[in-house]
Parts: sequence; C-alpha cells; structure tokens
Amino acid sequence: MTDTAYDFDLFVIGGGSGGVRAGRIAAQTGAKVGVAEEYRMGGTCVVRGCVPKKFMVYASHYGQEIEHSAGYGWSVGDVSYDHAKFLAGMHAEVDRLSAIYDRNLKSAGAEIFDDRAEFVDAHTLRLKKSGKTVTAKKILIAAGGRPWLPSAEELPGVEHVVTSNEMFQMATLPKRMLIVGGGYIAVEFAHIFAGLGVEVCLVYRGETVLRGFDEDVRLAVHEGLKEAGVRVITKTVFERIEKTSGGLHVKMTNEHELETDVVMMAVGRRANTDGLGCEAAGVKLGKNGEVIVDEWSRTSAQNIWAVGDVTDRVNLTPVAIREGHAFADTEFGGKPWHFDHADIATAVFSQPEVGTVGISEAEARKAHGAIDIYKTKFRPMKNMLNGDQTRTFMKLVVRASDQRVLGVHIVGTDAAEMIQMAGIAVKMGATKDDFDRTCAVHPSAAEELVTLRTKWVPEVA
Ligand code: FAD
Ligand code: NDP
Repeated sequence: MTDTAYDFDLFVIGGGSGGVRAGRIAAQTGAKVGVAEEYRMGGTCVVRGCVPKKFMVYASHYGQEIEHSAGYGWSVGDVSYDHAKFLAGMHAEVDRLSAIYDRNLKSAGAEIFDDRAEFVDAHTLRLKKSGKTVTAKKILIAAGGRPWLPSAEELPGVEHVVTSNEMFQMATLPKRMLIVGGGYIAVEFAHIFAGLGVEVCLVYRGETVLRGFDEDVRLAVHEGLKEAGVRVITKTVFERIEKTSGGLHVKMTNEHELETDVVMMAVGRRANTDGLGCEAAGVKLGKNGEVIVDEWSRTSAQNIWAVGDVTDRVNLTPVAIREGHAFADTEFGGKPWHFDHADIATAVFSQPEVGTVGISEAEARKAHGAIDIYKTKFRPMKNMLNGDQTRTFMKLVVRASDQRVLGVHIVGTDAAEMIQMAGIAVKMGATKDDFDRTCAVHPSAAEELVTLRTKWVPEVA
C-alpha cells in the first residue's frame, strides 16, 4: 500500500493523546508512519496535564483524610508533607508512562522524530532540529495547545506569572498563591494547593466559577472553594503586577490590591499553530489559531487532517484519542466512522469533584421546553462519623415529553467514577423510568441516582 512517491504514508505532528493513537492504529494496518514530537512523548495529558494533575489531587487529599480518620478511631502522630518527595515519585511515574507511549508507537512500526515539524507545503515538512525535510501522502496535525497569557501591554508585569505548565516543577510550595481564572484548571489547582496548605486566593472575572456547567453545579463548586479555605474574589481582573522585596504586588480592578508569592494564570489555552506553516500547506485557521476541520477531522487541505486540542472542539484527552482513532480507522483501516461529540462525560477534579454528562437545566429548558428536574443534596454516610460537613449534590435533567434523561450532574466524592457509568445510560437514551427500574447498590452514594422519586418544584417567593 505504501506510495513510493512519498517518504511516509502518514506523518503525524505531535506525540500527544490524539497523535499517538492515530499513529499507532495507522501503523498497525501496515502504513509507513512517522511521528514528530518536539517536547516529550505523551503530550500534555501525560507530561503536564491530566496525569500529574491527578497525582497532585491525590497528594492534596491525604492531609484531610488523616484529620478525618480521627472520627473513625485513628490517632496519628506528627503529620508532615514533603513536596520534593512527592514530586520525585510523580515524575518517575510520568517518565514511565511517557516511555510506554514511545515504545507502543515503535512496536507498532512507526518512526519517531524527537523534533519539531513545520510545513513547507501540503506534503512536505521540515524537521527543525535536524534541518531534514520529509514528505508524506497524508499528514495529521495533532499539535495540541498551550496556556494563553495576555500581552505585556494588556497586563503589565505578566512576565512574573506562571501557568499550569510550571505547577508540576515547583520544587517547594509557596506560602501564598493567587490563581486567576474560573475554569477547570483554576478550580482544580486552587483545591490542590489549598489542600497542600498554601494560602490560596482565586480571582475570577465572572460571578460564579465554571461557566457553561449546570448552574447548581457552579454554585456548589463556588461554595466548595470557600469551604476549602480558598479566598474567592469575583468580578475582578488584574491591572498590573509588580515584583517587590516581599513577593509580588497585584493591583486589580475594584480597588483590590494583594501581596502574594506566586501568581498562576489559568485563563484559557490556544492551539499550537504559531509558526507551524499552515498557510503554506493551505490549512485554514480560526480566529484563535485553531485548525478548522469538518466532522471527519479533515482540514481545508485535502490530504491534511487535524485532531485534538489543536482543533479546539472539546479539549479533553479521551476526545483527542477518539478523534485520532476514527481518523486512522477511516483513512487506513477501511472502517470509516467519525466521533460523535454529543454527551461526553467529564469531570472537574475539584474537592469534592464534579461529574457531569449531557446538558444543563438551562440548556434543556431552552432546547426542549418542558423539563422535569430531580435533585438531592445529602451528607454522605462516610462523613457522618468524621466531622466532614461536605455534602453530595445530584441532579437529573429529564425531558417531560418522553422522560428521556438529558443530563446528569453530580458534585461529590467519586463523582468522576459515577458519571462514567451514568454516561453510558445517557448515551443510550435512557429514560427516568430506566433509572427507576435499576436496583440500587446499598449502601452507596450512587444509589441516590436511581432512587430520586420526587420532582423538584421551584420555591415560590
Ligand atoms: P497534546 O496532548 O497537547 O499533544 C500535542 C503534542 O504535540 C505535544 O506533546 C507537543 O509538544 C507536540 N507539538 C506541538 N507542536 C509540534 C510541532 N510543530 N512539532 C512536533 N511536535 C509538536 N483532559 C482530560 O480529559 N482530563 C483531565 O483531567 C485533564 N486535565 C488537564 C489538566 C491540565 C493542567 C491541562 C493543561 C489539560 C488537561 N486536560 C485534561 C486536557 C488534555 O490534556 C488535552 O485535551 C489532551 O492532552 C489533548 O491531546 P492532544 O493530542 O490534542 O494534544
Ligand atoms: P477554561 O476555558 O476552562 O477557563 C478559562 C477561564 O479563564 C474562564 O474562567 C474564563 O472566564 C477566564 N478568562 C479567560 N480570559 C480571561 C481574561 N482575559 N482575563 C481573566 N479571565 C479570563 O480554560 P482552562 O485554562 O481552565 O482549561 C483549558 C481546557 O483544558 C478546559 O476547558 C478543558 O477542556 C481542559 N481541561 C480539562 C480538565 C478535566 O477534564 N478535568 C482539567 C483541566 C483542563 P469566563 O468564564 O468569564 O470565560
């Protein structure tokens, strides 16, 4: 099948979640595949995203778990935390996983280039370090994204801030930290560092964090931040940051001024297309630099596709993997399919965490009119003895006309684990009756999802 007019049947730009899956599946069909990775195999998820982040979430839980164990009869002596020791363990695991990505690609027959690739034309790429050019019949852009920061004109002193990338390399913990943003990353890291004993202040330009999520979820997470000891300042943006002898001085709108040790900005991400040469290849970009694709991940150039964060569709690891897999099956495996972006279950690893699938109550009312809402808030059994006042929140959004469950929203311990399963039911088009017919697992928190009997009625003032 190899076309000898080109060096490769497929060349993949980026060895992250999407690129590695696509490269491996294509190589397994016998295609000649090359993959260029400019930093580390595994990409954002493995090296500076989901994986090390989740380890940090676990690390930050232990302090509270130890405290709460007293209610169950445990007494623990002096408790201390060694960040350097934790980081060493975490990085060893990241290294192990990165090496697995490398090995799996190679054993499938792909050739890996530790290099940056840039387009010369639609079939030719220049490898920056080596200076070599390679040609390919088909090219997949899987270059991911990077943290976005305002310019120095927009925010004087921005050179003093750090992003999520640096969070995994901080050898010692600061005493105080200011986190800017109200999305996944800001919320998750605010909880992580608060859990590790840092004085955290979160500054958000809106009113309630997690815009786009169900309103009840947003409120629960917003309150949860405060309960975790995070100072939350809303409706405020930064005006300037100055370095002082004591740390960083931050001036914000609304007269707020603060001294802190570290400022972390988590104000969104942008596609890695700067300097990629997309123009030379005839690949059209959107207004934020994202690669424009159709449902088959095909770009405006007929031999070039793009998957994952670089397309800025739904920026999650499993989505990049599915898009990459669908591309490889379609173009190399003779099994055409494309990924359906509806009803993707997702979790925010706040504390307690969020698990959500389907649409919010507001979206459902707008799209479907009559809606039934079922919701509950309760103190989970484990917390009855340990003094933890944290509650679990669950909500079902149901279409009144046919009782189809359109959304499941959970804030509570293990919400991520629960929503994966609820996601199957929602994706299958389950109705409220299907939930009701399902026998509960007892005693568990998840059983509440199948025992919600009373429709929620809004209070009349
Ligand atoms: P990436 O994984 O970013 O891979 C792209 C790769 O391309 C990178 O390795 C990059 O170095 C390389 N590259 C770029 N340009 C070039 C070039 N020109 N030549 C060669 N190589 C190049 N998602 C979840 O589902 N769950 C989570 O819990 C979660 N947590 C996250 C936490 C953080 C802090 C962040 C930042 C993200 C998180 N995400 C999470 C999102 C997830 O990491 C991304 O959606 C996912 O990694 C996207 O995969 P990708 O293949 O599109 O891109
Ligand atoms: P998000 O897009 O989720 O959030 C960005 C936040 O920054 C928003 O609160 C936004 O406010 C705010 N913001 C944007 N521009 C400015 C500005 N100029 N000044 C002040 N505030 C600003 O991005 P993240 O960086 O948090 O995460 C990127 C993506 O990575 C996520 O959307 C998600 O897809 C993925 N991710 C997934 C995780 C998971 O699955 N658990 C974890 C981490 C990341 P506003 O709300 O007003 O727009």
